Amino acid sequence: MAVPIQTLGDLRTRGGAHTRTVKDEIRHNLVRKLQAREPLFPGIIGYDETVIPQLVNAVLSRHNFILLGLRGQAKSRILRALVELLDDAIPVVPGCEIHDDPLAPLCSACRARVAREGDHLPIAWLPREARYVEKLATPDVTIADMLGDIDPIKAAQAGLNLADELTMHYGLLPRANRGIFAINELPDLAGKIQVGLFNILQEGDVQIKGYPIRLRLDVLLVFTANPEDYTARGKIITPLKDRIGSEIRTHYPVTRNNAMAITAQEAWTDRQATLENEIPTYVREVVEEIGFQARTERKIDKRSGVSQRLPITTLELVVSNAERRALLNGESMVVPRVTDLYAALPSITGKFELEYEGELRGAEQVARDLIRSAIGSVFTGMFDGTETRTVVEWFDLGGSLTLSDSASAEEVIAQARCVQGLRELAEHAGLAPGASAPAVASAIDFVLEGLYAQRKISRSDDRRYAAAEATPRRPARREEPQADEPFPMPGAKKKYYN
Ligand SMILES: [Zn+2]
Repeated sequence: MAVPIQTLGDLRTRGGAHTRTVKDEIRHNLVRKLQAREPLFPGIIGYDETVIPQLVNAVLSRHNFILLGLRGQAKSRILRALVELLDDAIPVVPGCEIHDDPLAPLCSACRARVAREGDHLPIAWLPREARYVEKLATPDVTIADMLGDIDPIKAAQAGLNLADELTMHYGLLPRANRGIFAINELPDLAGKIQVGLFNILQEGDVQIKGYPIRLRLDVLLVFTANPEDYTARGKIITPLKDRIGSEIRTHYPVTRNNAMAITAQEAWTDRQATLENEIPTYVREVVEEIGFQARTERKIDKRSGVSQRLPITTLELVVSNAERRALLNGESMVVPRVTDLYAALPSITGKFELEYEGELRGAEQVARDLIRSAIGSVFTGMFDGTETRTVVEWFDLGGSLTLSDSASAEEVIAQARCVQGLRELAEHAGLAPGASAPAVASAIDFVLEGLYAQRKISRSDDRRYAAAEATPRRPARREEPQADEPFPMPGAKKKYYN
């Protein structure tokens, strides 16, 4: 390897094409990746045919751009992934707060240094990770935070004119010079700050406390926003909107498989330091289904969305509940059950905002309804065409069984032995031959909860499964608001039915 470039002289003689804008640099590196057919945004799942092509086009066009999407759609993650498109390191004037290019410094201090030291000026190398600056916009962000401030004391001490940039205390944007500046939730930024941003973008200068400051910053500006806030009139000043080259819409996973892949990647479930775990596919599917159903549930506010963090944290709690049970029962294998989802309520209720109708029902009840409905949907898909009559009849003939949350695998299996056909039915949940006891117990639990979700059997609050309650048959009159209540829960039963 050649001797590293350490001085401005070295840089001038063998530095190559270092003097280029950030947007050119990112474009160039993206072109190389495309030619080499390298994966572009590893770890970002489900956007290959939607978001990523638009993102590539925006970068190829050297645009500043905005990602429009609801919470938990990997917007911040995409922006951070842009760092991978920067050079490994760039040469800078050492100590300069705005990372001046030694070949073309902006600030007067650096220009003076270059003039004084010439080719002997030492060079520092700035790694790409240090070239990404992120700011969450809030209404109280000031011009000083974002662009900078003038320090009158510094000016007085040095005998400088206030408008000299030596007296400037730089804000976040100048500090992102020669890098990427990401502003999350752009519409929350006060109008006058947006004007300041626009002026920097457009004219390369800005007024601070009435003093014009000239700074031709070189920055890729990227933003995120909730689509409704962004399009709401008056939230974004028009000239700034005009300077944002591309608006790219993100979305939630389209398929359950994509959603499962994201959750599997993000959730902390590999806990081999304690016990081995094995998460049945139907448990993973139910966890995702909760997210999908929550996004279309009319009791839940669609404008704020339901983040993919819901299934991620839910799966973590589901595994933890199964882990707790296994530890208490001295079992060596952790296999979550669908009923463990009820222990995950603390991760579900905080992940959505309720509409008025949902407020009436309460967050916990809305979440319980979602769990039951999700189990029903996955169970129906998996057991479609499978005969469940034998088991249902056993309950109809007066049989019942009670399974507590902490029941060991052996206990569940022993109880299930009384129910004719239950064990055989559980095999349809995809049990491998010679499956472990906790896996069999989980499959049994899934069948019981599935039949309960289909209302073929009933279940009390203390988890006693029994025959379905006879519901009064209604004529096909489905207009009244109660009619499409998906699953009236036992316990929330209307008094006048008695
Ligand atoms: Zn400088």
